[in-house]
Amino acid sequence: MTGSIAREIISAIGKDKVLTEIEELSCYSYDCSTYQRIPELVVLAKTTADVVAVLKVAHRQKVPVVPRGNATNLCGATAPLGGGIVLNVLSTNKILEIDKENLTATCQLGVITADFQNAVEAEGLFYPPDPASLQFCTLGGNVAFDSGGPRAVKYGVTRNYVLGLETVLANGQILRTGGKTTKDVSGYNLTQLLVGSEGALGVFTEMTLKLIGKPEAKRTLICSCDN
Ligand SMILES: Cc1cc2nc3c(=O)[nH]c(=O)nc-3n(C[C@H](O)[C@H](O)[C@H](O)COP(=O)(O)OP(=O)(O)OC[C@H]3O[C@@H](n4cnc5c(N)ncnc54)[C@H](O)[C@@H]3O)c2cc1C
Repeated sequence: MTGSIAREIISAIGKDKVLTEIEELSCYSYDCSTYQRIPELVVLAKTTADVVAVLKVAHRQKVPVVPRGNATNLCGATAPLGGGIVLNVLSTNKILEIDKENLTATCQLGVITADFQNAVEAEGLFYPPDPASLQFCTLGGNVAFDSGGPRAVKYGVTRNYVLGLETVLANGQILRTGGKTTKDVSGYNLTQLLVGSEGALGVFTEMTLKLIGKPEAKRTLICSCDN
């Protein structure tokens, strides 16, 4: 990747959001797997406009981009093995709305899963998907990996709670799919196509999630089986 691409991105989104020093780049070279490669550039996106600007340049210049939440994946998904740009979305982390009447929440994708769960539970509501990494992982990573934990047995996984997505496609175009309503059945179900796409189909920037009422009580069961 040439210095002119870095300069183009810096002029579009500002120098403070772009890392170029080797010490900084090496911090974004790995995840929770054993894979590693130092990226050529790291962008700390703070808004959807930042994501759009970076993808437009990368698309035109044919540079690979790896979206990154908090890199808790265990399979090298955010190690930039093809080189290029690591696009960190951790700072896009606002809960925009908790809609108690419609039992939905709209938020940005860098929100940490446990923070989101605590926020909705304070309102008497419940968001079940519980990957064991929930204190550190992001909702964006959860959507991209369709994550789930023990509660999946009773409540389902992330996919079952995603009603709508704002996604920036590889060419920088913004795609809005789904919405607040459960009966959103016209056309292809692109939202569910995007869930689990592992960052390959676009960068998620905003999501609408389904909430349920907070259970009054909970019990954990362990069953042992002879075979
Ligand atoms: C101790 C530990 C326990 C774990 N337990 C579980 C578990 O119980 N269940 C489970 O499912 N997983 C588990 N994981 C794996 C991992 O935490 C989850 O897959 C989690 O959803 C990843 O979130 P993240 O924010 O760290 O995403 P990252 O690791 O940063 O990214 C994961 C994938 O999502 C893509 N991505 C991230 N953000 C975006 C975005 N905004 N738009 C588009 N693509 C994006 C990345 O490119 C990558 O392909 C565990 C990991 C650890 C370390």
